[in-house]
Amino acid sequence: MRQKIVAGNWKMNKDAESAQSLASEVVNMVKDEVTSEVTVVMAPPFPFLSSTQRQIGDAAQVFLGAQNCYPKDSGAYTGEVSVPMLKSVGVTYVILGHSERREYFGEKDATIADKVDAVLAGGLVPIYCCGESLETREANDHEAFVSGQLDRELFHLDAEAIKKVVIAYEPIWAIGTGKTASPEQAQEMHATLRNHLAKKYGSEVANAISILYGGSVKPDNAAEIFAKPDVDGGLIGGASLKSRDFLEIVKAL
Ligand code: 13P
Repeated sequence: MRQKIVAGNWKMNKDAESAQSLASEVVNMVKDEVTSEVTVVMAPPFPFLSSTQRQIGDAAQVFLGAQNCYPKDSGAYTGEVSVPMLKSVGVTYVILGHSERREYFGEKDATIADKVDAVLAGGLVPIYCCGESLETREANDHEAFVSGQLDRELFHLDAEAIKKVVIAYEPIWAIGTGKTASPEQAQEMHATLRNHLAKKYGSEVANAISILYGGSVKPDNAAEIFAKPDVDGGLIGGASLKSRDFLEIVKAL
């Protein structure tokens, strides 16, 4: 049985007060309403990690995530945040390789691979994002493109290490656009990724890795996407900023 996960990527949203309210609402709703084995992750901006962790407290199913990290432990890297720092405030999951980091901050394969290594070395869990542009999909190169991202950014890991990674397939054309991949498109790519993992690491390892879908997941489309056999949950942007919507998505898994 693969771990089922719904992670909220708050991106660069909220302020101290509204972040605290959102975190507290999510934690209380999960405690009251979620009986399944779903792991819930909240990934707020760095300044709100500690207050979000205080809201999480001893909630068994809810975990703290960060949206990025720097691959060195400490030193003269102005403006950056290390894995040991994240650990010290209670972070468990770290989103890496998000298409917004690639596009706006120039993150390349080697940087993302270094960050994956740093997160694993620190004992945290990478939520590694991959996904193709609309242009790549229209050229029918999407499967090769996303498999190539895994080759360059994850496949230096050994089998024990890659089993600890959570993969998120996020087609760029579906992020923040209201245009979600169809459940069939999601399933097709998730199966392609799992086959690609199986070719390199064997099917036992491939079948143990959770692959999340991200891109305009909303309460009204989550259930049909999550129903697909290779979709193990979601990475949620916009809809994670409203506690009720986020909860409905968690409950759809
Ligand atoms: P949206 O859910 O807003 O499309 O964002 C998806 C995403 O990028 C999550 O990381």
